[in-house]
Amino acid sequence: MRTIIEPFRIKSVEPLTYTSREEREGYLEAAGYNLFLIEARHILIDLLTDSGTSAMSTEQWAAVMRGDESYAGSESFFRLRRVAEALTGFRHIIPTHQGRAAERILFTVLTKPGHVVPSNTHFDTTRANIEFTGARAVDLPIPEAADTQARLDFKGNMDAAALEALIAREGAAKIPLVMLTITNNSGGGQPVSMANIEAVKRVASRHGIPLYLDACRFAENAWFIREREAGYVDWTPKQIAQKMFSLADGCTFSAKKDAFANIGGFLCTNDDRLAQQETNLLILTEGFPTYGGLAGRDLDAIAVGLEEILHPDYLRYRIASTGYLGRHIADRGVPIVEPPGGHAIYIDAARMLPHIPAHQFPGQALAVELYRHAGIRSVEIGSVMFGAAARHELLRLAIPRRVYTQSHIDYVVEAVLEVNARKRDIRGLEIAEEPPFLRHFSARFRPL
Ligand SMILES: *Cc1c(COP(=O)(O)O)cnc(C)c1O
Repeated sequence: MRTIIEPFRIKSVEPLTYTSREEREGYLEAAGYNLFLIEARHILIDLLTDSGTSAMSTEQWAAVMRGDESYAGSESFFRLRRVAEALTGFRHIIPTHQGRAAERILFTVLTKPGHVVPSNTHFDTTRANIEFTGARAVDLPIPEAADTQARLDFKGNMDAAALEALIAREGAAKIPLVMLTITNNSGGGQPVSMANIEAVKRVASRHGIPLYLDACRFAENAWFIREREAGYVDWTPKQIAQKMFSLADGCTFSAKKDAFANIGGFLCTNDDRLAQQETNLLILTEGFPTYGGLAGRDLDAIAVGLEEILHPDYLRYRIASTGYLGRHIADRGVPIVEPPGGHAIYIDAARMLPHIPAHQFPGQALAVELYRHAGIRSVEIGSVMFGAAARHELLRLAIPRRVYTQSHIDYVVEAVLEVNARKRDIRGLEIAEEPPFLRHFSARFRPL
C-alpha cells in the first residue's frame, strides 16, 4: 500500500468552530490585522506554531495520572531521567519549564560580553538569550541556504569552513561553545546531516570548544538522516539520535516540540562543575532540581513522549504529511522554501507577491488573506518579525503534531491555491502602532 495514513486513531475530539467571511473581516479589523491578537476560538485551522500544540497519546495521559507531585525526589523525575539518559547519554539532565529557560541558564553560566556563539542558525529565543548576556550570536549557515529554491538534502547544515575562519579571527578563548540547531528552525526546518555534525565537532574539538545541540526537533532530524544520508537506512531513529547526541557535549531542549508535550524542556551536560553552577541557578529561578519549573505530571508526559516520537511509523507519516502539503502547493505554482522541511512549510511571500514591496509586508498580507479566505492562522517570518534584518519574506505554516488529519491538510492546500489564483488582488499593509521590541506579537496594521 502506498497511502500513508495517520498512525493513530482518535479517542477524544475537540470541535472546530466555523466563522463566516464577514465575521473574520470583523475579527481582523478588531485585531489590527495581527493574527496573534485573534482569539483562538475564531480560528478554524491553527498553523501558528508546532510548539506546545501537540496532541498527547493515551499513554501520555495515563502517565499524567501517574505524576508524582513530591517537591523533592519525585518518581516522575527519575522516570524522565532514565529515558533522557538512555537517549542522549548525557550525565546531567536538568529539567526546565521550557527551552528558553534552559538557554537562559546555559548562557548565564557560560557567556559574557565579548564572547561569540556561532550556530548554523540561532533560533530567536536563543539569539535573544545570548545577546542578553552581552555576547554576540553569529549564524553560519551553508551559503546555498540563502537560495529558497535550492533543493538540498541537508540545507540546515553549518558552514564548517566559516566556523574555522571565525575561530581563527576571534580566538577560541572568546567562543565558549558552538551550537547546532537540529532541525534548523529559522532556516526553514531543514535538517543537518550526521556528516556535518561530525565535521563541526572536529573543528570545535580541535580548539577545545564544546559543541551543544539545540535539539528541539532531534527526532525529525534523525528521520531525515535515515532517509537521505548514506549508511543509515538500517538504523532506527533512536540509534541515529543517540549517535547525534554522542557527538555533542551538551544540549538544550524544548519538550514542546519533539516530545509531544504541552510544556517543558531540559538542559544537559557532561561537565560536573558546569552542572553544579546550572543547578544553583535552576533553584533560584525554576525550582528544585527534580522538577525544574514543571509539575510531576509534565515530567511523566515528556518521558513517554520522548519514546513515542522516535517510532518509525510516526516519523514516516510526519515527514510525508509535511512534504505532501509542500509539494501540493509548490507543484501548482506557490513558491515555498525548498525542499519541504520537517515541521513546517514556508511560503516565499516576496516571490509569490512581487507587487508588494518588503516595507508593505508581503508575508503579513498573505497571512491576513489566508485567514480572511479560509480561517487558517499562519505566521509571518520576515520584515514584520525582524525589521530591516529580515533576509526573506516568508509565511510559515507550522504543523502541530498528531492534531490535524489528511483532510485538514487538503483543506489548507485548497485554500492556499485559491488565494494564489487571486494573488494580484492582495494589497500590502502599513504599521499603525508598534511596541519597542518583538513587535510581531502586538503591532497593529492598516491595509493599504
Ligand atoms: C521553540 C524553540 C526554542 C525555545 O523553546 P521554548 O520551549 O519555546 O522556550 C529554542 N530553539 C528552537 C530551535 C526552537 O524551535
